[in-house]
Amino acid sequence: MDNPFLNFQKTIQKTAKYLKINPDILEILKWPQRVIELNIPVKMDDGTIKLFKAFRSQHNNFLGPYKGGIRFHPQVCLEEVRALSAWMSLKCAVAGLPYGGGKGGIIVDPKKLSQVELERLSRAYAKALAPFIGPYTDVPAPDVGTDAKIMGWMTDAYAAEVKSKKLKVKSNEILATFTGKPVDMGGSLGRTEATGRGGVFVLVELARKLKIKNEKLKIIIQGLGNVGFYFAKLAQEAGFKIVAVSDSSGGIIGDLGSLGNLSRFKRETGRVVGYPGTKTITNEELLIGDCDILVPAALENVITAENAPKIKAKIIIEMANGPTTPEADEILAKRKILVVPDILANAGGVTVSYFEWLQNLKNQKWTEERVNRELKKKMRQAFESVWETKEKFKVDLRTAAYILAVDKIAKKVVV
Ligand code: NAD
Repeated sequence: MDNPFLNFQKTIQKTAKYLKINPDILEILKWPQRVIELNIPVKMDDGTIKLFKAFRSQHNNFLGPYKGGIRFHPQVCLEEVRALSAWMSLKCAVAGLPYGGGKGGIIVDPKKLSQVELERLSRAYAKALAPFIGPYTDVPAPDVGTDAKIMGWMTDAYAAEVKSKKLKVKSNEILATFTGKPVDMGGSLGRTEATGRGGVFVLVELARKLKIKNEKLKIIIQGLGNVGFYFAKLAQEAGFKIVAVSDSSGGIIGDLGSLGNLSRFKRETGRVVGYPGTKTITNEELLIGDCDILVPAALENVITAENAPKIKAKIIIEMANGPTTPEADEILAKRKILVVPDILANAGGVTVSYFEWLQNLKNQKWTEERVNRELKKKMRQAFESVWETKEKFKVDLRTAAYILAVDKIAKKVVV
């Protein structure tokens, strides 16, 4: 399997050609400043004790506190967490947020734990990380396999640790240490939908730029989780046609009708496969299916040198982090397939996390309308800046986004 951290390092190196950047500074940006490795014992329901390996990678904090999600997945590993944290640094810079990048993960299949075991593991992770996080230090959020409920448990466990260790953190600052929390625990309205919504804002801007009509465009989405589902729903509302979707059980193609019904079906059965009126396909077939826009919204390295020559889409919107390998990127560029990179396309989530953090620190509660309005503004600005950089340097959108981010961060490096 491709190493996502090496992929990140290869891609960031490309910016050296365009920026007059000191190679020593670029070297700093290639590595996380600190990686925390944890072994967390958890009492299981049958009385045994299981040890879970976990990480938090703090890539850099030159623009502000480390910021990034926590992933619960069996394939989590050091290299993945390092890469995800690095992409967060770049993403926050592209989105114009006062944050650096961080990412955490636990090697676990959350579907195989009971709710009580999941809660114990989440709380234990937050407790172990307590000395390393805080509203001005490192602010975690949800990612694959985690959600608002888990952020709620973590915030609560962090609050208990702050109290027991007599740490000087105020109550609103405790809330501001995690984002993506339940709304009744200081979470922001609109956070759950934010990543998908931000991606659709980018897509609409792109369609406008390319002078193409939304109604004409067929979309395939890989990964109908939090990000994929809201992207699908909001894209459908914006007039695009969703023709196929998938999850880890496989893909479906056909008339998907109302996505609300599909989501209910997935909640009840745990999978999209078997949804009435659709044909089952594999995830590989899905990626090379007939469409205008392909939206990977699951995991890394799914668009590879093997399938890139066969992709039929003309546009790829990377809602997942790191879905395209550098080799695939070159093939797609030669084939004139436009790739909207992850560090731009999926920045809506961290943008609304930033709004949540601000609301907590200022004791405010924004309306959903305000959150969505401000998100649209931020995503449009980010899109325009990347597009301008692309035109200026005559590069693809990914290189443009990296140039923009590296330039911003490099100016703030303190040695
Ligand atoms: P999620 O756990 O809610 O959903 C992931 C989905 O991917 C699930 O439906 C799962 O079944 C599916 N999946 C897993 N393996 C698959 C495979 N091999 N083929 C097809 N589908 C597969 O996670 P999420 O929060 O929606 O995150 C999805 C992606 O978006 C990740 O790359 C994540 O890092 C990125 N992302 C998430 C956020 C956020 O706010 N949650 C923000 C930015 C980026």
